Formats: sequence, C-alpha cells, structure tokens
Amino acid sequence: MTSKLESLRSVPDPPQAGASSPAAQAGASSPAPQATATVAIHGGEERDKPHHAVTTPIACTATYTFSSTAALRDHFEGRIEREEYGRYGNPTVRAAERKLAALDGAEDCALFASGMAALTTTLLAVLKSGDHVVLTSDVYRRTRQFVGTFLSRFGIESTLVPAGDVDACAAAIAPGKTKLLVTESPTNPYLRLADIPRLAELKKTTGARGLKLLVDSTFATPINQRPLELGADLVVHSCTKYLGGHNDLLAGSVAGSAALVSALRDARGVLGAVLDPHAAYLLLRGIKTLALRVERQNQTALRVARWLEAHPAIERVYYPGLASHPDAAIAGQLRGHGGVISFLVRGDLDVTSRFIDGCTIATIAPSLGGVETLIEQPALMSHYELTTEERLAIGIRENLVRLSVGLEDADDLVADFSRALDGVASTAPGANGAGASHVAEEIASHVR
Ligand code: PLP
Repeated sequence: MTSKLESLRSVPDPPQAGASSPAAQAGASSPAPQATATVAIHGGEERDKPHHAVTTPIACTATYTFSSTAALRDHFEGRIEREEYGRYGNPTVRAAERKLAALDGAEDCALFASGMAALTTTLLAVLKSGDHVVLTSDVYRRTRQFVGTFLSRFGIESTLVPAGDVDACAAAIAPGKTKLLVTESPTNPYLRLADIPRLAELKKTTGARGLKLLVDSTFATPINQRPLELGADLVVHSCTKYLGGHNDLLAGSVAGSAALVSALRDARGVLGAVLDPHAAYLLLRGIKTLALRVERQNQTALRVARWLEAHPAIERVYYPGLASHPDAAIAGQLRGHGGVISFLVRGDLDVTSRFIDGCTIATIAPSLGGVETLIEQPALMSHYELTTEERLAIGIRENLVRLSVGLEDADDLVADFSRALDGVASTAPGANGAGASHVAEEIASHVR
C-alpha cells in the first residue's frame, strides 16, 4: 500500500492536460508523475476497494476487532499496520489524508475536526512552555486569539509582526527560543501575500535552531500554491473551504514530514479533535473536483475583480491578480489568484448593506471556497461586536465587502452585481470618511 502511495505523491508543476493514465498507478515501480487534477481524483485511494466499489467506503465504526491476542501483539509490535480505535485512526479518514498529502507534496497529512482543530492541535503539539512563536499579524483571527489567550497561559510567548515585513520577522526571532513562525497566504480580508521563500530563509539566516515555518494556505489550496515546495515545514488548510468545496462539512488538515505529522497524530489521539468518517467521505468526494473548481473560480474571480475595478460605484478592489494589489510583485508565487475578492463600495455602511441585499445570486454568509457565491460585509459579520472606531483602528472599513466567488456563470454574477450596484448608486453619499482607501490594507496588518 505504501509504495503505491509514494508513487502518487509526486505532483508535477504546473497542472497539465492529458495526464498519464490512471492505470499507471496500479503499482508500477516508478510511474510517471501525474498532474494535480489526476492526483485529486486517484491520489491516496486504494485502486482495489472493498466490494469492488469505485468509491472509498465510509468505515462507520468507533473501534476495530482483533482476531486473537497474537494479532493484537502483531499490531502493537509493528508487524502489521491496521486500525485500533476510532480516535487513533479510520480508513476513510486515512484515504483523505493520503490524498491531501499527495496534493500538498508532503510525506504525510493528518486531518482534524475543523481548521481550528488542526491549528490548535498543531500549536499544542509543537510548542512547549518557554517557547516563543512569531505570527504575521493578519493570520486568521482565531489563530491569533488561541496563541494570545490560551498558549500564553502555558508560558508560551508570542510576537505579532506586520504582514509582509520579513525584516520585522527576522528581528522578532529569538534563536533557541522561537520554535514556530506562523503565517498565512493569501490573507483575509485583503488577500495579502506572504513571501514564503524569504520567510523560509529565516530558518537559516537567523540561526534559530529547530525553527519551523507553518503556512495556513486555506485561501490558495494546493492547486494555486504548495508552500512545502517554497520552504515551509507545515501547511494547514481549513478543508471547510475549497477542499470540501460544497459548504457541507467542517475539516482541517496539516501536512508535512512523516515525523512531524506522526507527532500531530499522537497529539490528536490525546486531544480528540478527530474527523468523522462521514465528513471524510464528503471531503474525498469534494477534492475529486478541486482542480476543476479552483481553476474556474480563479477565472471568474479575475473577471469579476477587473469588472468591479472599472465600476464607478466601487472605490477600491483587493485581488492579488490585479496590478493594483499591494503584493502584485510576489503574486507569481501563486498559480492562480483564488476565488475571494474584497472591495470597497463607494458609500457608507448602509449603502454597502443595500448593495449586498440587492444581490440575488450571492448569498450572505461567512466562509468561502464553495460552489455557492457568498458575500459578506466584515463590519457586520466577522467584526460585528466592535464599534466603528475599533473596526477602523484595525483596518475594517464599513464599506468593505468580501466576496467568495462560486461556480455560477460569470456573466450571471456580473449582471447581478451590476443591477445591485445600480440600485444603490443614486443614493451613495460618496466615499466614506475613513481616509484614503489604501490605508485600509495597511492598518489591517495590525492586530485585530
Ligand atoms: N484558517 C483560515 C484562513 C480560515 O479562514 C479559517 C476559517 O474561516 C480557519 C483557518 C478555521 O477553519 P475552520 O472554520 O474550518 O475551523
């Protein structure tokens, strides 16, 4: 089983049409490397499945039987590889883990009950009292909250550095003490990009022995970015987003070296944030269309971003595929720019809300990456509990919209946004009074 898996882990760059035949996976010693789309479908799964099924079945069991005490000994003494108890492993989950490892170009991957479960388990497994962690300031809000509020209780210190400032990262690293550098790329909501190769260089240039680089690559997916190839040690995805792709599951993954992932799996067995096999099945199914979906979302989002940027009712668009994006210079790190666009409507909080309410295709909801186009006003969704002043202090303008483009027809989406903008254009009081729009993504790099 392992040798077949190894053969599926080699994913060429970039994805190509006309990938080698799936038959090449049947166990040949060194099959041709396969394109990402092929790996997304066949990677990690046994070719011969139970009951001659085409799909990997859901192993709906909490525990596993041993035929004899000798079989139990064989398992514990490493002579046979098998499952033992549901918190330590499940075959359906394992297939999804192997598929993700193949897609991320990793030796191994562990799945968790959510993206946050993946992140919290990893941080708890990798860090110990007295260690120090550096985070770029626009990593996911709950990750920062976990480090600042929970890990600090266990004597783990942290420093937040402005996103994109590699020199500040270098200065924050305390050799011997800093064990983890956590970054995200692209980020939420301004789609800022981390220079992953330069951050990876810091492991050598700062002399910080044992320093690991973790990249949350949720917004990119393995289709648009593979951080391990750029020098990261661990790559995290909230599989709730593009990997699941249908807004019907929560899951999180961490991929990296076999040794690191084995430690995470052990920690998961203690902390208990396991993925349910039903969700693992949905994830396996979702990933099969990942390449197709993300490529289309890349195309549609670029089209919508360009259209929005040219529209007089829009003040500013943030999309890494546009030359106007603050990180356009390093956008080549991405193979595609993803399906999320953020933009400022020319108007205030209410005008922006009326634009959103006028959309008939995009649905108001948090999250991103699914087949349905989702839209939200961060001031009234993720940052609802803050005052206007508090939001502005952290870069969240009241007229900011975050859009996650789904798989609807691009012309239909543009027509719908056009109608919704026409509906509010006559009432817009002009750009809101929060200052120049470029300030927003700069202040967004501070703690929020
Ligand atoms: N990382 C990023 C970048 C996210 O956007 C999210 C959720 O929005 C998470 C992690 C957490 O994932 P989950 O919601 O699956 O716990």
